[in-house]
Amino acid sequence: MYRNLFILPVLITMTFCSQNSQKEKEKADIKSNVIIILTDDQGYNDVGFNGCKDIPTPNLDRIAKKGIVCTNAYVSYAVCGPSRAGLITGRYQDRFGFGRNPLFAPKDPNQGLPLTEQTLASALKQGDYKTMAIGKWHLGAYKKQRPLNRGFDEFFGFLTGGHMYFPEDLTLADISEVKSQYAAYKTRILKNNTRVDIKEYLTDALTNEAVSFIERNKENPFFLYLAYNAPHTPLQATEKYLNRFKNIQNKKRRTYAAMVSAVDDGVGKILNKLNELNIEGNTIVFYLSDNGGPEKHNGSDNGPLREGKGSLYEGGIHVPFAVQWPDVLPAGKKYDKPIISLDIFSTVVKYAGVKPKNKLDGVDLVPYLTGKDSSYPHDYLFWRKFDQKAYAVRNRDMKLVNANGEKNELFNLTDDIGETTPLNNKTKTDELLKMKNHWDSQMIDPVFLGLRHNKEYNKLHPDRFDPEKY
Ligand code: CA
Repeated sequence: MYRNLFILPVLITMTFCSQNSQKEKEKADIKSNVIIILTDDQGYNDVGFNGCKDIPTPNLDRIAKKGIVCTNAYVSYAVCGPSRAGLITGRYQDRFGFGRNPLFAPKDPNQGLPLTEQTLASALKQGDYKTMAIGKWHLGAYKKQRPLNRGFDEFFGFLTGGHMYFPEDLTLADISEVKSQYAAYKTRILKNNTRVDIKEYLTDALTNEAVSFIERNKENPFFLYLAYNAPHTPLQATEKYLNRFKNIQNKKRRTYAAMVSAVDDGVGKILNKLNELNIEGNTIVFYLSDNGGPEKHNGSDNGPLREGKGSLYEGGIHVPFAVQWPDVLPAGKKYDKPIISLDIFSTVVKYAGVKPKNKLDGVDLVPYLTGKDSSYPHDYLFWRKFDQKAYAVRNRDMKLVNANGEKNELFNLTDDIGETTPLNNKTKTDELLKMKNHWDSQMIDPVFLGLRHNKEYNKLHPDRFDPEKY
């Protein structure tokens, strides 16, 4: 079977050195498959490979053992929607006005990812990849912004920022029955353009679709964007998973643990399928959470990190992250230099041999993760929360954070990961502020109202949920 060129310098070198040169050559000519496993609101500490004790995650830990744990991995925003917009475009989302968490507004063409942006799926279509999005979308419910119009061949999931997990709770036939922001959590699942009934716990249903997609695409390069909504609220788990955590007394933590455990089972099924189909070696699997855990809301644990979801302290943006790619990356390593979710796009398109449409903000991680390049992947990483006038910038060990729009605090994260003791260093503060202002000047204001403007939006758009006009 013919596959387009997929050239990896490292493999080419091996071709000349190895006795199995023909085999290696074949490997080098094969495009790698790409899987992104994104969890929702999972705490930094809530995976075995980051030291979690009460929630075993043997399958997420398999990724860590077979690949690399990035201990200083960030997302580009502290809540769901903007973080996903950054991940899927490989660009700081404020470049295109995605500085707020979108509302569910299916008639609004501006409430989501602008059509000028290219998704990773669209980029990979140029390289003949088959693409599928599973789970939470949250990048726009308007028709033109839905996954099938944004580079995905297939979709199984829901359009809004969260969803009910039990089939019996999915009582709304479709979005024409949705009359408020959070009622959308109850719509039936969307399979491509059709609403379907599911029979299982939602996390299990998402896993089964993922396994089926892999199975159906074993002969061609594929990209699977698997965005579990677990362990985002509502906290709902089946007895099968709850029974594993009889030892956890706190009910919230117990249900959260069960939800994480269901994801972990799913990851196990996916890894087993890759193994069974003998495509594990040339499949790159990224795992990360879309933002830090909202500890009080879902029982998550960000460990030593300060605060959680929504915050520009580490707890909001510093996430669990592991990647495996057995043909290319070493196994069982840790990588400590700061990286960001935006790097996923840059890494993937480089080896898929496709040219991105827009200027990317990430870097190809492979030279860093293989140890070939020992410099820092990024001199500076930036964050901002437009409405709160909050921002942060990280440069190597140092981070400047203005978490509430009021005061600047400088921390050395290598010495003080908990951001407990601000340093008094005007020169460094001024340098980071200058870099942040330069970056900020390239960003634009949000192009849509966000979740916190729900009431205001309803006043401006009284026909928001008028099904006649969908
Ligand atoms: Ca989230």
